[in-house]
Amino acid sequence: MEFEMYLKNSGIEFLKDHPLKDLTTFKIGGKARYIIFPKSTEELVKVLTLAKDKAINHVVVGNCSNILVSDKGFDGTIIATVKIDFFKIDGNVIEAECGAMLSQVARKACEAGLKGFEFAVGIPGTVGGAVYMNAGAYDGEIKDVFEWAEVLDENLNPVELGRADMRFSYRHSRLKEEKMVLLRAAFCLKFADKEDISPLQKANEFSKRRREKQPLSYPSAGSVFKRPPNNYAGKLIEDAGLKGYRIGDACISEKHAGFIINLGDAKAEDVRKLIYLAQKTVYEKFGILLEPEIQFIGEFETPLFVPENVQNRR
Ligand SMILES: Cc1cc2nc3c(=O)[nH]c(=O)nc-3n(C[C@H](O)[C@H](O)[C@H](O)COP(=O)(O)OP(=O)(O)OC[C@H]3O[C@@H](n4cnc5c(N)ncnc54)[C@H](O)[C@@H]3O)c2cc1C
Repeated sequence: MEFEMYLKNSGIEFLKDHPLKDLTTFKIGGKARYIIFPKSTEELVKVLTLAKDKAINHVVVGNCSNILVSDKGFDGTIIATVKIDFFKIDGNVIEAECGAMLSQVARKACEAGLKGFEFAVGIPGTVGGAVYMNAGAYDGEIKDVFEWAEVLDENLNPVELGRADMRFSYRHSRLKEEKMVLLRAAFCLKFADKEDISPLQKANEFSKRRREKQPLSYPSAGSVFKRPPNNYAGKLIEDAGLKGYRIGDACISEKHAGFIINLGDAKAEDVRKLIYLAQKTVYEKFGILLEPEIQFIGEFETPLFVPENVQNRR
């Protein structure tokens, strides 16, 4: 109650007992006690400080485009950064706040004749989510263009991190390891040369490829699994005979077996059952354990698959 009073008195936008499915690109997820939308990094810091002081269970999210939320929801506070969205381009450097949409930032960079961010035009997340995940596509990754970030460490101390501090690897960054919150980041690009294909044209070609290969007309969270070394999750799932497999309204996409799509009223547990099935079947057929790329919020009844030999070692 005290927390709610503080939010009201500070004029900070929030929703109470609201379904998270309204936020997630999967259109799945039960209620959170509070969903808060800070409008500035200062408001974000205030909310985080209060949540820490009052020991309130909380998670910072961006556009929820890589998240499966439990049907039971989240017994705590979701802090969504999507309204902290200022960014500017100065020469070949872009500075963006955590909630700026990566696709918009990348498109503006391409329009300004800058190359290096074409890969990001079709990724539907925020700058914060993209740096946290080291998002990437078409041979490009955030780590290739990242310059610095202003973050808060677990104790909410402000820290500035350069590229070498970030421990980027495939869909991984230091933010994940140390529960850091990204406030803003800078990216450094290059001006396209006359002989280069124009960055905008390249970005449009990537977007066209996405529309051809990905089931973009259905709600999803993109690729569910990380790419295993020298292989593709979608191909393994397809070769395991699971393309089009459906549980409730959750379905392994016919168009791209690496995606699970929501055909209408899919439950998070249906998605978890498909994840388990895909992991188990692929493991039994090919000996490869698929690791989820998507992040989970809340509690699930269906576990992730753990091979027996790994279980025995525990
Ligand atoms: C149709 C579709 C296509 C996609 N294609 C791609 C693709 O090509 N490549 C790719 O990499 N991904 C892809 N994705 C997944 C997703 O868009 C990316 O992972 C994106 O970077 C997530 O950003 P977000 O703002 O939505 O993060 P969220 O989903 O909101 O959060 C993801 C994680 O980041 C954390 N987080 C978010 N903001 C912050 C912050 N400010 N500070 C600290 N932690 C934070 C959250 O706690 C969570 O753990 C796709 C998704 C969809 C739906």
